[in-house]
Amino acid sequence: MPGVPARKGSPPARAAGRAKVRGVAQDSLTIAELLARCGVEDPLSVAQARTALDAVKLTNPNRDRVSVGKLERIRDALHAQFFLHCPSAACQAMAAGRTGLVVRKDACTACGGSNTRRAVQDALEACARAGIRKICVVGGSPAVREELQRMVGAQIRLTLVEGTQTPSLMQARAHVRGHDLVVILGASELNHKLSNTYEAHKADGHILTVSKRGVESIAEGLAHHARQRAGR
Ligand SMILES: [Zn+2]
Repeated sequence: MPGVPARKGSPPARAAGRAKVRGVAQDSLTIAELLARCGVEDPLSVAQARTALDAVKLTNPNRDRVSVGKLERIRDALHAQFFLHCPSAACQAMAAGRTGLVVRKDACTACGGSNTRRAVQDALEACARAGIRKICVVGGSPAVREELQRMVGAQIRLTLVEGTQTPSLMQARAHVRGHDLVVILGASELNHKLSNTYEAHKADGHILTVSKRGVESIAEGLAHHARQRAGR
């Protein structure tokens, strides 16, 4: 009889043991795995990140594993401490005096793996420094206007004018005076009468004509204009 409860008890005990092992595997990661989830894989970057995380006690220098629950806090701490950028020189240049940490392209603060995103980010920063907050965009295809709106987000107030519309001279003047900049997209779907309507009000504000297609080129033109205005 004494042997029966022992046999009955042992299978659940083994099952509990396995569950515990699975639990450990799911709830913790090696620090290297966790850093890889943040895009940090380069050995030098791993060492830099590790030092910074040990200093704020998110990781323990004597332990190789860390709870998965800390992932967001670790990601936030890395962003607070470093400018995370991919190896591209253009992204590295956007650190603007902050300490850089090299990460995979998809984790890059500047481009997230996309040249367009990097160009838009650069333009937004240049516009912020130049005090450009309201932009009227004239022309461009519907797809380009939509992409521009999506990528610029709330940082800049955009007014989008279809290139096939013909606002009156009065409306064009109101656009020029009511915005920090009017960008005329000259590459597509632009009625020349329309661009001339805006050009007639050059003296009332700032007009930039961008003749290349695509959001990346528009953003580059915008960044260049903003830097000139900010005097740098
Ligand atoms: Zn990048």
